[in-house]
Amino acid sequence: MKPINEMKISFPSRSSNESFSRVSVAAFVAQLDPTLDELADIKTAVSEAVTNCIVHAYKEKIGMVYITTSIYPDGRVRIKVKDKGCGIEDIEQAMEPLFTTAAGERAGLGFAVMQSFMNKLKVYSKVGKGTTVIMEKKLTPRENG
Ligand code: ATP
Ligand code: MG
Repeated sequence: MKPINEMKISFPSRSSNESFSRVSVAAFVAQLDPTLDELADIKTAVSEAVTNCIVHAYKEKIGMVYITTSIYPDGRVRIKVKDKGCGIEDIEQAMEPLFTTAAGERAGLGFAVMQSFMNKLKVYSKVGKGTTVIMEKKLTPRENG
C-alpha cells in the first residue's frame, strides 16, 4: 500500500533535538485527528527510538538521525527512525525487556515501550553501519465533525 502523505526530518544526535523530533512527528500525525492517548503513545515511542540513536548509536560522537513518517489510507502511521551509528550485534537480545549495554545508567526498557505503545515494531541493524527502527500504529477511525 502506498502512503497518502509523508514527511522526513533529519537532525544531529544532540539530546536537545529529542523533544523536537517527537513533537514534529506528533504535529504531522495530528492531521489524522488521533486521540490524546494515541498521540502520547507515538511521542513516547519516537522519544525512545531517538534517545537510542543519541546514547547508543553515536555515543559521545554526533551523527545524523533520520525520521520518515508515513500515513496510509487505512489510518496506519509508520515511523522509521534511522541512524548510521555503531549498530546492534544481537537484535533479539537487545529487544528483550531489561537488556541493556548501559547497566547502571539505563533500564533496558526502550524497545519494550516501543513494542507495547505501537502495533508493530521491526529493527534492522548492521554492526558498524547503523540501525533502522520501523514502528507502526493503527489509529482508531474517527467521524468528522
Ligand atoms: P532505556 O531505553 O530503558 O533507557 P536501553 O536504551 O539500554 O535503556 P533499549 O532501548 O531497550 O534499552 O535498548 C536495548 C539495547 O539495544 C541498548 O542498551 C543498546 O545496546 C542497543 N541499542 C538500542 N538502540 C540502538 C541503536 N540505535 N544503536 C545501537 N545500539 C542500540
Ligand atoms: Mg533505550
